[in-house]
Amino acid sequence: MFRFATWNVGHAVQPRKPFAHQWNWFTDNVGADLVVLTEAKPDYSSCGDGWSFVYKDGGIGGRRRWGTSIGAYEHTLRDVTNGVGGRNGFAIEHHYPGYVTIADLVDDEDDSTLCTVVGIHAPLLDRDGNKLKWGGESVDVIMEDLAGLISSRRGEMLIIAGDLNIHPGHVPPSLYENFIDVIEATADLREPLPGCVNCGLGEGCGHLWTHRNGKTQNAAVQNIDYVFISEALGEVLTGAGGGDFTFPEIWEYSDHAPVVVDFSDDVE
Ligand SMILES: [Zn+2]
Repeated sequence: MFRFATWNVGHAVQPRKPFAHQWNWFTDNVGADLVVLTEAKPDYSSCGDGWSFVYKDGGIGGRRRWGTSIGAYEHTLRDVTNGVGGRNGFAIEHHYPGYVTIADLVDDEDDSTLCTVVGIHAPLLDRDGNKLKWGGESVDVIMEDLAGLISSRRGEMLIIAGDLNIHPGHVPPSLYENFIDVIEATADLREPLPGCVNCGLGEGCGHLWTHRNGKTQNAAVQNIDYVFISEALGEVLTGAGGGDFTFPEIWEYSDHAPVVVDFSDDVE
């Protein structure tokens, strides 16, 4: 089994857990081989032997020292955030540097690319950098930025994951044209999520509570973290889970819950 996870570790609700506590919980309870961390500002050197990370040094910049990072356990990552040359390369210009990180998972035997991961934290900003209350505009901009990657060879084995800051009913149609939403693809394994905000699936809802906005009993039940995979990866998808459905204790560690995807070993 090969396990991928995405998790927003930058929680707003007090008391905050130190990253070291979050990371201990993560390695004990999730055990992923490949991870996207959003709103992350860890000391990566303390993540333990075998882990390596790709991220923008200094985070997003200014006072925002956090950013999106991609980590792999006992696998090699190649940072292709700013594109890569060559016949199968791609070009990209980022509207929101630091919010989007891209890495290849590398086959050490021949240096080939096993799959490519895009980690996204969709900012609460419009195209011009003005503040918004959701990620609906920035997700569209980021998908435009990713067009060259998606149409390149890497688009065949691609994971797009992270905190999109939008509810299920607002996910851009372009994502569904090319990719499988692993949460919706496995929705029939779960009961409808009570109170699922802006769902759109009705009785077919099997969303995950991935963001708890506040500690109160009536905190909104939001699915705003996602994992999309290309069709070729869909053929080796063996399971998915996350939210408080899989991790009932998660709200002690973050106001976001991980989304976890299992693939057969064929990914490697
Ligand atoms: Zn739902």
